[in-house]
Amino acid sequence: MHDILKKPFRLYNTIQHYKWGSTLPDAFIPQLLGIDGEKNTNYAELWIGSHPNAPSKIKIEDDLVSLNDLIHRFPDLILGKYVADRFNNKLPFLFKVLSAAEALSIQAHPSKGQAELLHKTDPQHYPDTNHKPEIAIALDSLTALAGFATYYQCHKTVLRYPEITGFLGRDALSDLFPLRKLSRKQQSEKLRQMYQTFIHLTQTKPGLYQRSVNALAKRLRSQQIRRSSRENLFLDTLKKYGSSDVGLFSLFLLRMIRLKAGEAIAITPGIPHAYVQGNIIECMANSDNVVRAGLTKKFQDTRTLMTILDYTPNPVQIIKPIQSENEYNYPVFTSEFKISRLELASGSQILNTTNQLEIFLIINGFGILSWDYNENKEKISKGQSYIVPGILDNYTITSRSPMTIFRVQIP
Ligand SMILES: [Zn+2]
Repeated sequence: MHDILKKPFRLYNTIQHYKWGSTLPDAFIPQLLGIDGEKNTNYAELWIGSHPNAPSKIKIEDDLVSLNDLIHRFPDLILGKYVADRFNNKLPFLFKVLSAAEALSIQAHPSKGQAELLHKTDPQHYPDTNHKPEIAIALDSLTALAGFATYYQCHKTVLRYPEITGFLGRDALSDLFPLRKLSRKQQSEKLRQMYQTFIHLTQTKPGLYQRSVNALAKRLRSQQIRRSSRENLFLDTLKKYGSSDVGLFSLFLLRMIRLKAGEAIAITPGIPHAYVQGNIIECMANSDNVVRAGLTKKFQDTRTLMTILDYTPNPVQIIKPIQSENEYNYPVFTSEFKISRLELASGSQILNTTNQLEIFLIINGFGILSWDYNENKEKISKGQSYIVPGILDNYTITSRSPMTIFRVQIP
């Protein structure tokens, strides 16, 4: 088996058709993969990795084999001894292409300690014991809600919408926004209090919540001035999920971020976030632990959410990668993965001799992939992805056109 596995393998990946995914003629994933795609079908995510729900497959002597099985049988050869030992014989990350035409649910991910506890007490909703740090890199652009806005921005927002002010009530308001300057710590404490008041009221006064939501919607629909994208998101969400969705008001408390191509955001534990629109590369630790808070019909665990949320004002920074020759490196913020973007001019070459597992995806262009110091080679092009097993000690990519490649390694 040793010799058969000592080469880069093309990956055959699963497309997930979640409802928020883009559709033809705008669907990004079919276009990337060079397939026709079907009408009225949502192309939401492409999963590249060994997640048990949709593991990638590789071809070994004409048979398609699950990457999952292969890693399970030959962890040291595929992952390399170091990674296999460190991550319990599992691929530690999941790599995705995500194409959102509509907003995903607002969610936050637990820390490792929280995930262990959640999995123990509620394994049905928290399927593993892992945390889920993730990075989202815009391929063209990305609009996202990420982290709470600053305390003062929230105050301004609340004052701008009498429907929200009315829902919170005068007593809560004067407590949340006292007429004195607050320290940073006090500000995040007030943010926490504000969000908890919101969630508490949506549950204790559901009728008032729905009336307030509908009143705001009515006013926004009838007003003459142009609506903000946040207000449009509010109206879309109302139409899709009904007036009791807890995200309807809380989406006004989150920061709206717009990324340009190549820019990224890193989502650490407890950061509330929702991707709203765009095509992105996403990489995360291999976990399914998600705590949802609105913009969805799926299971929502608001009680857990309150305990895990990070109330730091404006916690998410827009990341620009650091260039080193033809490679753009995104910062490493977790032990499970690091990601970079290669921009190769036509006719350039990269040689890798790290002897470490890696997965790469070609976003643009074509070229030649060779290994065993050019003994073996094959053509590679846009939309294809490869796994380089830990056992292979060298490979080279030679571009035959300008190429853009994302690659994930383990730091
Ligand atoms: Zn997430």
